[in-house]
Formats: sequence, structure tokens, C-alpha cells
Amino acid sequence: MDFPIVQRATPGRYLLRGLLRCGPCGELLIPSFSSNGRRYYGCPRRRCPRPWVPAEQTEQVVWEQVAARHGTAARDAPVEQRLAMLNAVLAEVRVGLRVADLEYRWR
Ligand SMILES: [Zn+2]
Repeated sequence: MDFPIVQRATPGRYLLRGLLRCGPCGELLIPSFSSNGRRYYGCPRRRCPRPWVPAEQTEQVVWEQVAARHGTAARDAPVEQRLAMLNAVLAEVRVGLRVADLEYRWR
């Protein structure tokens, strides 16, 4: 699926930078945003069969998993702390053919 296009994003804001991997291709997903200003993670392979991964939604889902393992204190952690925590506990998250198919690899 091609996208309207999409530039590589500036640092920050992307909690899952370096942690999301494309299941079908095995590539790290790249933080991007579309021309309508929405944030995505995209596979660097143009022929990737998987749709772009909506960032907001996926970050929320992954954070819920991490917070569930680390208790309620984690739930309200500010973004800067979330970044460190995510990298401390997660080795990677593989995204399957459907963007809702997330496979967690914990450290
Ligand atoms: Zn891919």
C-alpha cells in the first residue's frame, strides 16, 4: 500500500523508535508522518505487504502492555520516562500483517 507521502520524522515524539520491527520483512520500522500530519511507522521496503502502522494507537497499545507489567506507577509516567522504560523492558515488538498483530519480545 502506497502512501500520499511521508517524510522521515524528526527525533522525539516517537516512543517506539528502534523497537518496532516489520514481521513480514524483518526490517526496523521508520518513524514517519504523512502529508495530513499524522504519525506513522513505515517499513523501508516498498513492497511491504503490511499497511503503515498508525503511531498514536500503536504506542498506546504497547504502553498499556508495559504499564500492565510494571504496575500503576508506570501508567502515568511522562513521555521522557516512557521512552527509557520501553527500551529497558522491550527488546522489540514485531508487527504482523495486520497492524493489530503485535508480538512482544521482552528483555
Ligand atoms: Zn515490511
